[in-house]
Amino acid sequence: MLSVESWTLDVEDCAIVTNSKFEEIAGILRERQRFAVLGHVRPDGDALGSQLALALSLQALGKEVRVWNEDGMLEKYSFLPRAELLTKPPSAPEDFDVAIALDTAIQNRLGTALPAVRSSKIWINIDHHVSNPGHGDVVYVDSSAPATAEIIFHLIKSEGLPFNRDIAENLYAAISTDTGSFQYPKTSARTFEIAAELIRTGLDVGRLSQQLYENYPRRRLELLRELLRTMRFQQEGRVASFSLTLKTAAELGVLPEDNEGLIDHLRAVRGVIVAVFFEELADGKVRVSMRSKTDVVDVCATCQKFGGGGHTLAAGARVRGTLPEVEDRVLAEVCAKIKSLKSLQC
Ligand code: 5GP
Ligand code: MN
Repeated sequence: MLSVESWTLDVEDCAIVTNSKFEEIAGILRERQRFAVLGHVRPDGDALGSQLALALSLQALGKEVRVWNEDGMLEKYSFLPRAELLTKPPSAPEDFDVAIALDTAIQNRLGTALPAVRSSKIWINIDHHVSNPGHGDVVYVDSSAPATAEIIFHLIKSEGLPFNRDIAENLYAAISTDTGSFQYPKTSARTFEIAAELIRTGLDVGRLSQQLYENYPRRRLELLRELLRTMRFQQEGRVASFSLTLKTAAELGVLPEDNEGLIDHLRAVRGVIVAVFFEELADGKVRVSMRSKTDVVDVCATCQKFGGGGHTLAAGARVRGTLPEVEDRVLAEVCAKIKSLKSLQC
C-alpha cells in the first residue's frame, strides 16, 4: 500500500505555492454539482488522461461534467477509455460551480477552453509544472510529481473517490507518457507503486503500451525524416536542434500531435545536453520545445525568458517572429548558457 502521509510530507517540502489539502478539494468535488474539467492546449497524454480520469470519477459521483480541451481528443489518444467524453469547447460559454485546470501552468494555456467557462464559483488548479504560479482559488501544485496524473491518483485514493478500471487506464497512459515510459528522472519508487496499483485493476500493460507507442501513423516517421535533414549540432555537440516549416508540415499532411516525442531523438544522442525543436505556426509565432539532460541546465528558465514555461528538463514557449529569427535568438541564448558551463558533459 502507498503511504499517503509520506506523500503529503514530501509535497510540503517541494511545493512552491501553498497547497490546499486533498480533503478540501475532495469536499468541493463531493458538495458541488456542475464541473468543467480542462487541460492545456496542444495536449499530451498527461493532460488528456488526467482530464478523463478525474471526469470519470466525478461522473461516478453523479456529477454533471464537461471535459474540454482546445484541441479536442487527439486521434492518437482516441483509444483511451471513454475518450468521447472529451470534446472541443463549445462557442457558447457555460456557467459552472467548479472549473478545474489540470496540467496547466498558466491559465492562458487553457486556450479556448478558458472563455468557454463564462463563470465558475470556484477555480481549482492541479498541476506539476514548476513554473505554475498558483492560479485559481484552490491550488495543488507539486513539481516533484512526474505527471499530473500521479496527483490525481493520490487525490482519488486518499479521499476514497470513485476509482475503476477505466480511470486506471487513463491514469496509466498519462503517467507512462509523461515519464517517457518510466524513464525520466522524476520517476520514483512511488511512480512504480502507483503503476502496480493501476495494473492490479486488470489493465493490460502490453496492449496499452502498443496503443501508446506502436500505433503511430506512417507520416510521423516521414516527418522525422524531414526533421533530421534540418538537424544541426552546436557547442561541440552539446546543443542539438531541428525545425519544421509550415510548408513541410503541409506537404506531409502532418497533424500537430505527430511531433510529440520526436525531440527525444535529439536528446538521446551522446554528448547532447540541450535539444531544441522549432515549429513554425500559422499565427506568426514559432513553437519552441526544449529538453535538457541535467538540472544544471534549466530549460524552463530559458523558456521563461521567451514568455514560456514548463519543467526544468522539458519546457516550451511560443515566440513571435519568423522561423530563422526565432531559431537565432533562442539558440544564441541556449549556446551562451552552455558555453558558460565549459566543463559540463553528459
Ligand atoms: P512540449 O515541449 O512537450 O510542448 O512541452 C514541454 C513542457 O513545457 C510541457 O509541460 C508544457 O506544458 C510546457 N510548455 C510548452 N510550451 C509552453 C508554453 O508556450 N508556455 C508554457 N507556460 N509552458 C509550455
Ligand atoms: Mn504533465
